[in-house]
Amino acid sequence: MANFQYLVGDTVAKKCWMVDPAWEAEALLNEATAEGYSLEGILITHAHFDHTNAVGKILERKDVPVYLQKRELEFMDKGAPRELFPDIPRSSLKPVSPGDTLSLGGAVLTFLHTPGHTPGSQCFLIEDRMVSGDTLFLNGCGRVDLPGSDPKEMFDTLNGSIARLPSETVVLPGHNYSSQGTTARLEEVRKGNRFLQVHSLNRFLEMMGL
Ligand SMILES: [Zn+2]
Repeated sequence: MANFQYLVGDTVAKKCWMVDPAWEAEALLNEATAEGYSLEGILITHAHFDHTNAVGKILERKDVPVYLQKRELEFMDKGAPRELFPDIPRSSLKPVSPGDTLSLGGAVLTFLHTPGHTPGSQCFLIEDRMVSGDTLFLNGCGRVDLPGSDPKEMFDTLNGSIARLPSETVVLPGHNYSSQGTTARLEEVRKGNRFLQVHSLNRFLEMMGL
């Protein structure tokens, strides 16, 4: 699946959050622990299995809050297919709302709600960086043909909250789908990503094969 794994945090306070624990996330936690970092929370861009299938294992190691958008949880509770949206241990869940913030040492993180790929998809903004999950890849955007996807919401997200971000924002996507590298500034992404260049909904739907 070529998922990226991220740790976000404060290098002075030696505290971190883990983004989307999946697959071999424990190896990443081992590295962080070996460097003296303590895990303070888990951040979920969206609840697809390939972004969450190691949450349980990480929680067994340390019981920390798991932050995900309220709308994602509502969708999961309303019968989202479990093979795509597996359960996450409920007692650890901390639902967040659009625009909520979280601090860790000197780091402040903003939860940017970016629906489209899933109802509660979100990106994490920290200073000039954005962990973008499956909302925005360097050369594309997330699929909108899955249960819970909404192509119109994805169009509005790309032309709204993503379009408003400063061009120097560094994009850290959820998958390694680009041959052009693993990360890029938004000004570069805007030049090469045709989904950021379409401002008509009908044209966007055509591009998505809908
Ligand atoms: Zn996904």
